[in-house]
Amino acid sequence: MVTAGLFTSFRRKLLRWYGKHARSLPWREDVADPYCVWVSEIMLQQTTTQTVRRYFDRFIKAFPTIQSLAEADLDLVNRHWEGLGYYRRCALLHKAAQEIVARFNGVFPDNVDDVRGLPGIGRYTAGAILSIVFDQRLPILEANTLRLHARLLAVRGDLLHGGANARLWEFAETILPRTGSGKLNQALMDLGSLVCTPKSPKCSECPVVTFCESAKQGLQNEIPSLKTKEQTEYRTEVALLIRKKTKTLLIRSPEGERWAGLWDFPRAGTEAELPLMFAKDPVLQNRLAELTGRKLTPGRLICSLKHAVTKYRITLFFCEGMDTGKTGNTALCETRWVTAAELQELPLNSTARKLVQFV
Ligand code: SF4
Repeated sequence: MVTAGLFTSFRRKLLRWYGKHARSLPWREDVADPYCVWVSEIMLQQTTTQTVRRYFDRFIKAFPTIQSLAEADLDLVNRHWEGLGYYRRCALLHKAAQEIVARFNGVFPDNVDDVRGLPGIGRYTAGAILSIVFDQRLPILEANTLRLHARLLAVRGDLLHGGANARLWEFAETILPRTGSGKLNQALMDLGSLVCTPKSPKCSECPVVTFCESAKQGLQNEIPSLKTKEQTEYRTEVALLIRKKTKTLLIRSPEGERWAGLWDFPRAGTEAELPLMFAKDPVLQNRLAELTGRKLTPGRLICSLKHAVTKYRITLFFCEGMDTGKTGNTALCETRWVTAAELQELPLNSTARKLVQFV
């Protein structure tokens, strides 16, 4: 176990390793800019470093300052986020930028309570930004450090909740030096990412192997315990291409739904097994009517594609559709008739983006 008396040696070994092996990441080039660190940390939630690399520079180029992000239309921000997934993060980032402009004159706050009060920023993100940019002595615990610390201490069980989680946060805080917390936090993240990997950790290359309780007990491959896999569910959905002269009908996915805020073709689930049966499925048509406030009927099949969202394996049928006018009820979704040019500009979910080629 890593005890207080060994922390200095632990940090020295870790930082020596970090000096040679630190990952070169675009958002680390200017760690004095809280905006860049903030955007990168939000992008990195639920997304791999490799994917974020492809988006980060482009996003910062489009919105170089907090002010420019706050003033941008959410559709434009979502368009630059398109493909990164978990779009709620993007909406909260945009909202937080507007709050920083309104409450802090556009300057990212350096007080932990102010930062944690911003939309979309929890304990980890606040700790990462404030330690990396302002060298505040604040701990972090994200996927890499959660796994690393659990192995160092040989903590079993549910690492995200209860006593185990509290113990890991406590360790993450205790291990920090009086100064240089940002560097140490980054070194810990890199060690977790490069050496203490989810599968087959490279203990023979690990600079802190002598401090590791799991290595001593041979538990590296048992901690953290594997999640029981969620049962896969199969679904069929139908999306409609509804045309009016040169325009196409789109809906904006409502708050609380997957892809909230992004645009999509009118789409709903069906129990029907064959495209021929879609036009006779009242559940499908009622749902489409609820979403759009219009009477829509599926017609000829254009194409189908398969995709996965969390535990769902979805077969999506894209069909031509007939619009016979308004239902008289208010639509659940915002709807818009768009031109081909607008289809390119608006933020679409990933499957709708693939379907655009058939419009
Ligand atoms: Fe991870 Fe192995 Fe290092 Fe322990 S010794 S921290 S299990 S890489």
